[in-house]
Amino acid sequence: MRAITTLIFAGLSAAAWADSILVEAEQFSQKGGWMVDTQFVETMGSPYLNAHGMGKAVTDAETSVAIKTAGDYELWVRTIDWSERLGRAEGAGTFSVAVNGVEVKQTLGKGAPQWAWESAGKVKLAAGEAKLRLQDLTGFNARVDAIFLSSEVGAKPPEACMMSARLKWDYVGSAGPVTDAGEFDLVVVGGGYGGMGAAISAARLGAKVALIQNREVLGGNGSSEVRVWAMGDTPPSEYGLADIVKEIEDDAKASPAPAEQFGDAKKDQIVRAEKNITLFLGHHAYGLEQAKSGAITSISALEITSGKCIKIRGHLFADCTGHGFIGQWANADRTMEEKGRMGMSNMWMWANAAQPTAFPRQSWMLPLSAKDFPYPRRGHAEWFWESGYDRHPIEELEVTRDWNLVSSYSAFSAMKNDGAHAERDPQKHAHAELTWLAYIGGTRETQQLLGDVILKGEDIESKKTLFPDGCVLTTWSIDLHIPEKQYVQGNPEHPFISKAIHRHAVDKRVGYPIPYRCFYSRNVPNLFMAGRNISVDRDALGTIRVMKTIGMMGVCVGRSAALCRVHNCLPRDIYEKHLDQAKNLWRMPGKERVVSIEALKQKL
Ligand SMILES: Cc1cc2nc3c(=O)[nH]c(=O)nc-3n(C[C@H](O)[C@H](O)[C@H](O)COP(=O)(O)OP(=O)(O)OC[C@H]3O[C@@H](n4cnc5c(N)ncnc54)[C@H](O)[C@@H]3O)c2cc1C
Repeated sequence: MRAITTLIFAGLSAAAWADSILVEAEQFSQKGGWMVDTQFVETMGSPYLNAHGMGKAVTDAETSVAIKTAGDYELWVRTIDWSERLGRAEGAGTFSVAVNGVEVKQTLGKGAPQWAWESAGKVKLAAGEAKLRLQDLTGFNARVDAIFLSSEVGAKPPEACMMSARLKWDYVGSAGPVTDAGEFDLVVVGGGYGGMGAAISAARLGAKVALIQNREVLGGNGSSEVRVWAMGDTPPSEYGLADIVKEIEDDAKASPAPAEQFGDAKKDQIVRAEKNITLFLGHHAYGLEQAKSGAITSISALEITSGKCIKIRGHLFADCTGHGFIGQWANADRTMEEKGRMGMSNMWMWANAAQPTAFPRQSWMLPLSAKDFPYPRRGHAEWFWESGYDRHPIEELEVTRDWNLVSSYSAFSAMKNDGAHAERDPQKHAHAELTWLAYIGGTRETQQLLGDVILKGEDIESKKTLFPDGCVLTTWSIDLHIPEKQYVQGNPEHPFISKAIHRHAVDKRVGYPIPYRCFYSRNVPNLFMAGRNISVDRDALGTIRVMKTIGMMGVCVGRSAALCRVHNCLPRDIYEKHLDQAKNLWRMPGKERVVSIEALKQKL
């Protein structure tokens, strides 16, 4: 096969000429209203563009490619008919592609219930610059992974499209060989509260830190993209683990709430102010290398909008992905509930506009009535719009997100078009408008990476088990979710409203100290973890999973990692040999700084 070229038109001179051209959608130079979706790389192979218009077609995405040889080009688009995959009517999200202003096929994204290349017909191209345009036709989450153009007779787009296969594609221009991005004391993957806490605290103790986050914003579920407010108390403690969390926490008055209340800019500023942190925002970690001992030596990451791949080497690593991806790839011991986990939520908001507005009823929507869903009071569809309890939390995550979209759109349509809950609004929702619906899902439960201690709910409830390395105070009740019976009947196959079962195991004024040994892997020797993927059983997950608690875990991990660098030792050694010194570091106020690991050594 002749060269496949990925050409984002930064200038024709950077391009290599070829007759087969591959354009990654997330690398379009103008994305218009299309959103970059990075949530499902592990299952469909790539970040992609998502026309998340909440019922209104989004503005076009555009880019240019360099065409060397004039001729007739076959065009394919890698896409999916997501509503058909769910077994609903086909074609929820359709779109068209135009080349040099001419539509090549009117409707794409209809009829393929899995990610696949769809033929979009032929186009005659002159040599020089060709402009590609994606035009959303529905406003309901059309998707484009990539576009393939070829003038070669019989050429086909690449069949294998997972990340590992893509790395072997013959990229020129935006992609290229994996380059070395340097070596760090600590490499943190995931920029939620756990990841931010780990990165900031290690950096303030003089460690060189890489922080990799696959979104353009920090905060994870606590960012404006997901809009979960950070909960958990920070009761008086002998340790100063809460200070940094107080710096980064949101100012939200509700969850969800308007974007600005989640303080994305503040989080960004605080992290960027740390000279010891190299921030790899918009980078998706996709793999790692290990030494014979099982120790991780590097993380590989894709810069999403350029396609460049980098390798980040490190002494210590922290899995703060929530999903436990790093541990999974490193074969860390871990557990996953088979069924009946807590699900994913895509919260949404609505408000009354000055004028009546329309919301299009669609054939793929569920026929819902008021008895099928609780009224989204105060314009908020909150945390309990949750589904995916029995679906695989990684393999089937996109399906779960899509069911959340279907149920949210269907409920809103029922309010607008079928009078559901009409008595709750003087205008019977004639003016109601969807103002926000998260396309990034908030996840709660994937897998637990196992450490030297697996904290159990009964340890906490009995209050008898206190560990010598107890440090981060968890204060939330044991809070686990199940489908809400009242709403299951209408949708027994796909329940989408949950109920929380709280067991008040913890006195929130005091808290229960989670042991340090839950924060490192028992068999991957240099892997820390902070976040919902730490070493706990399911009941304990119910309390430790709130974000202020997770932020404190991060701080504990970051400081312990700095101490590891002082002694050139591994996370387990901190407990076995240096616990007193670790406790002294955990006691430090959050603002205190040490310029380097060498200086920290002198200070101890
Ligand atoms: C709807 C909902 C309501 C909730 N209510 C509350 C509440 O009121 N208060 C509260 O405190 N908690 C609440 N929780 C729980 C809490 O949000 C989560 O437990 C918490 O966010 C987990 O934190 P984390 O840092 O482990 O993961 P996350 O917050 O998910 O952060 C992990 C980050 O890592 C990134 N990432 C993942 N994989 C990669 C990769 N391969 N490369 C690079 N980056 C990657 C992700 O994009 C993400 O930004 C709620 C959760 C949900 C879903």
